[in-house]
Amino acid sequence: MYLRPRNLSELFEMWHAHPEAVPVAGGSRVLPLGPQRPAVLLDLAIAALQTIEKEAQFLTFGPMVSVDRLAAVLASLPGLHAVAQAALGFVPVQVRKQATLGGNLLIGGSLAPALAAVGAIAIIKNHQEIQELPIQSVVPVQPGRLRLPAQTLLVAVRLPLEPSMVSYYAALRRTPVGPAVAAVAVAVVGSGLRLAVGGATPQLQMMQGDLADRAAMDRWLQDLPVTGDPRASAAYRQAMLALLLERALDALPTASRQSA
Ligand SMILES: Cc1cc2nc3c(=O)[nH]c(=O)nc-3n(C[C@H](O)[C@H](O)[C@H](O)COP(=O)(O)OP(=O)(O)OC[C@H]3O[C@@H](n4cnc5c(N)ncnc54)[C@H](O)[C@@H]3O)c2cc1C
Repeated sequence: MYLRPRNLSELFEMWHAHPEAVPVAGGSRVLPLGPQRPAVLLDLAIAALQTIEKEAQFLTFGPMVSVDRLAAVLASLPGLHAVAQAALGFVPVQVRKQATLGGNLLIGGSLAPALAAVGAIAIIKNHQEIQELPIQSVVPVQPGRLRLPAQTLLVAVRLPLEPSMVSYYAALRRTPVGPAVAAVAVAVVGSGLRLAVGGATPQLQMMQGDLADRAAMDRWLQDLPVTGDPRASAAYRQAMLALLLERALDALPTASRQSA
């Protein structure tokens, strides 16, 4: 069964009537062919989930904004460069057009470390209440398991428009298509740094520190629970994280490095 609500209130009514319904955003993950396909699907293609709103201090995206559109909107904003880079890393471009911000974030995909580094906020809603959470609290802690409570929707992702922030994302893939085996995102405001790591560890990892204290970042990377699999060993991933961090810090605009 395929449920097609026209607005948010209809969506929650349908979800209430069919609690087993699984939301479909771009569908690139949730619509596999075969017996694993959910029996009841809930289409999220409604206007209220596709908006982009600019305020003085925030840029707020509906979760149904495609990864492609996200990259285009953020391309000219240096503070949010890391998120644009992570979005542009999606290949092939057809997937970038189909995949959504919300679908990717909620499965802990490429965008998650970049969104965490820039300090994004997730706005979630059930039929009763709306909540604002740090982005990392909606990223899965177990692969393949969404972290939202039952019948809860991600309704927006809010990105800070901090004029003095700069950010960078660096990732390593073993093949042109497929997830990164290691990814590092950094965001810097003054001398304060937020560093997020994805791909190399089962869960998104984050630290906050001082841009000048490189030794603390290296120690933190060394202590991460990095895992190996057929695509890359743990030792290789660990070594690549150090390299990616080096690359990300080097690529930050000179002004931010001088202020450290
Ligand atoms: C060829 C190919 C290349 C790929 N490359 C990459 C890549 O480079 N990086 C990467 O990270 N991934 C990649 N992927 C994996 C996947 O396509 C993406 O992660 C994609 O962003 C998932 O988004 P979606 O909108 O299609 O999610 P969907 O499949 O629609 O949904 C994913 C999950 O989130 C839930 N969900 C979605 N939106 C909401 C919401 N608003 N509220 C509550 N629940 C929701 C769904 O129910 C589902 O469980 C690739 C896939 C393919 C086929």
